[in-house]
Amino acid sequence: MTYDVAVIGAGVFGVWTAYQLNRAGLSVLLLDAYGPGNNRASSGGESRIMRLGYGPDEIYTRSAQRSFKLWQELFASFASPTPLFHQTGVLWLARKDDDYCEATLKTLRAVGARCERLDQAQLTERFPPFNFDGVSWGIIEPDAGVLMARRAVQAVAMKARANGVDYLEEAIASPVVDRNLRTVSGKAIDARQFVFACGPWLPKLFPDLLGELIHVTRQEVFFFGVPPGDDRFRPPRLPTWIDFNDLVYGLPNLDSRGCKIAIDAHGPEFDPDRGERIVSRELTQAVREYIARRVPLLANAPVTETRVCQYENTSNGDFLIDRHPDLENVWFAGGGSGHGFKHGPAVGEYVAAMISGTEPPEPRFSLTTKERIQQRKVY
Ligand SMILES: Cc1cc2nc3c(=O)[nH]c(=O)nc-3n(C[C@H](O)[C@H](O)[C@H](O)COP(=O)(O)OP(=O)(O)OC[C@H]3O[C@@H](n4cnc5c(N)ncnc54)[C@H](O)[C@@H]3O)c2cc1C
Repeated sequence: MTYDVAVIGAGVFGVWTAYQLNRAGLSVLLLDAYGPGNNRASSGGESRIMRLGYGPDEIYTRSAQRSFKLWQELFASFASPTPLFHQTGVLWLARKDDDYCEATLKTLRAVGARCERLDQAQLTERFPPFNFDGVSWGIIEPDAGVLMARRAVQAVAMKARANGVDYLEEAIASPVVDRNLRTVSGKAIDARQFVFACGPWLPKLFPDLLGELIHVTRQEVFFFGVPPGDDRFRPPRLPTWIDFNDLVYGLPNLDSRGCKIAIDAHGPEFDPDRGERIVSRELTQAVREYIARRVPLLANAPVTETRVCQYENTSNGDFLIDRHPDLENVWFAGGGSGHGFKHGPAVGEYVAAMISGTEPPEPRFSLTTKERIQQRKVY
């Protein structure tokens, strides 16, 4: 059979793209080398923050707002035994003269998102587990929270398949040099259009084109065990928090996994197929020091679980969603850059619109823009 579109990669960008293309009436084959939300994929983590704030970058605030609505509609359409979204609230910790947080507040208000500015006294009263030393004020996004990432990706894949998307668990052989796609086992993939939503694997599949545009970095995540029967580490007392000035973010105790802490600074280059996923002594120490300072009640908490994942960073954090410059029926959707998960639904809609030719392309997502703009940074 010749499919209208083959989507390669069943991470968050790929499953939502397949889902949206199917809804647009196209026949779709979805492929993944290791399975939807697998533990090497960037989307394979336990949880991902769903927030609307993006400094002055209204394009991402609006995309997150649209995506949030689509996530909620999808979750409402079937019964999940445990929630796929936790409304924890997201708290931004701001410093004095914090331009990024000021811009975040302004943009949130401009798009009509619920948010509140809190001074230090209000922060201390509302969120007792924190030590707010060095923090002058904060923003709370009360409707925001946490998507249960791996399970959410699997749920979208399941829904897409129930709607008629075919699924194949095989790897496309890399590098890709022409439009005659074959899997590693030699199977020909017959489709009119191909979308490569391969996240951190994109530079391997297209080394000449994307090798310098997407950098894959090793990122470490830690879970700290909370005392038994202690609900001080659950929302609303402990929300999800963003401490970008310290390049750290944290999540409360969800699904009884303990508090999650991660360092947002980019680690060394990482191979998503072969990289060993064992955390380093240095970052374990750095995270321990951070949590002892910011959430002193957890100063002696044990690390109960760790993960090593990878970011697929573009030079400025903008997504990379474009058509191949030489192969006109080949598209890319990637460059999630450590913040892409929440945007899966809007990315899927955008790719479907690009393929159907119903919307003009967004210059910030294009290959050529990536080469031009080096200075801006999206979180
Ligand atoms: C530690 C960490 C924390 C993060 N926190 C957040 C957050 O809080 N909020 C947020 O919004 N975002 C967050 N992100 C970013 C977000 O998770 C990613 O941007 C997003 O998951 C990328 O999805 P993707 O579909 O592009 O890639 P992936 O999820 O990596 O999917 C790519 C898929 O392609 C498949 N594949 C690769 N090569 C082939 C091939 N040759 N043939 C067939 N299949 C192939 C892989 O198996 C994989 O399943 C975080 C990322 C990390 C690593």
